[in-house]
Amino acid sequence: MSSPVRVRKIDKVIVIEFNKKKIFLDCRSFRKATPDLIFISHAHSDHLLNSSLNFRVISSEETKFMVLAKGKKYNFIDDLNSYKNEFELIKVNHILGSRALFVKSDGGLLYTGDINDKGLFEVGVSNLPKVSILLIEATYGLPRFSFSSPKDTLKEAKDLILDLLRKGKSLFILGYPLGKSQHLQLFFDKYFINFDNYVYPSISLYNDIYSIFNYKILPKIQINLNSLTNLINGKPSVIYLPLHLAKNKIVQNFRKHNFSLVAFSGWALESSFKESIQVDYAFPVSDHADYFGLINIVKQVDPEIVYVTHGFVDSFSASLRKEGFMAYPL
Ligand SMILES: [Zn+2]
Repeated sequence: MSSPVRVRKIDKVIVIEFNKKKIFLDCRSFRKATPDLIFISHAHSDHLLNSSLNFRVISSEETKFMVLAKGKKYNFIDDLNSYKNEFELIKVNHILGSRALFVKSDGGLLYTGDINDKGLFEVGVSNLPKVSILLIEATYGLPRFSFSSPKDTLKEAKDLILDLLRKGKSLFILGYPLGKSQHLQLFFDKYFINFDNYVYPSISLYNDIYSIFNYKILPKIQINLNSLTNLINGKPSVIYLPLHLAKNKIVQNFRKHNFSLVAFSGWALESSFKESIQVDYAFPVSDHADYFGLINIVKQVDPEIVYVTHGFVDSFSASLRKEGFMAYPL
């Protein structure tokens, strides 16, 4: 570790300057400066470039697959080995392929991307290097966001869903199509195997990529909004749909036909959530760390300075200062 590192924001893009290189972090677009490298922490759309550009991109193998599945073409660097003295990708919990960027500058810098301290990938936070500069998200960076153990919440949901199925109801299970929906299926599949299981095409696409990387999700019948009507008066079924379809008129109409809607999102902690998206049940399960998880991650990394990059940046920075860290919103 030798060269110093500089962190700044250019035109809403977080830029790390190191070894005469500009690395742009999870940028959607840029105008004023051009990157030498672009780092993509994972394949959620709010972390991806809008257009296919010819700049060199660093990401995990899994993220490459997902970006290609989204129809985007980037100039991915195939062999990161030549950069091994400058940076490293560190596996983090969030979704398949999520990585933090560890820059081996003087003292070290770590950019977490989206991160969860307890999740499916069970990498925890103990693998994170100790660095002097930490860049961390704060999606749930307020003390009122405190999640119970995800396994306990999912068990509670599973019991409810099984009970409803046995009473003859069918269930729409709603989650974010990439990440959350796969994590739900990996937990629920073995319990719902005796019922008919359906999946919306945009979820099915990512199921296939999870399966390629050995997260075996049971194959399911694909179903779209038009073919849903075939399920009316059918056997009790489980149908995985993207969360954004909860308020769709076709989906809502099924509530008259013995179907219930069950949503899974960290925002279910907000009392208004269930009503605002018009579902029957909502469970707070997230692929992000809650407030206390975020504090725990910062303590693990034990940096000299923290930049908070996303979410409740001001109030989480203030919370970190109370904990004795030098912290600023970015
Ligand atoms: Zn994400």
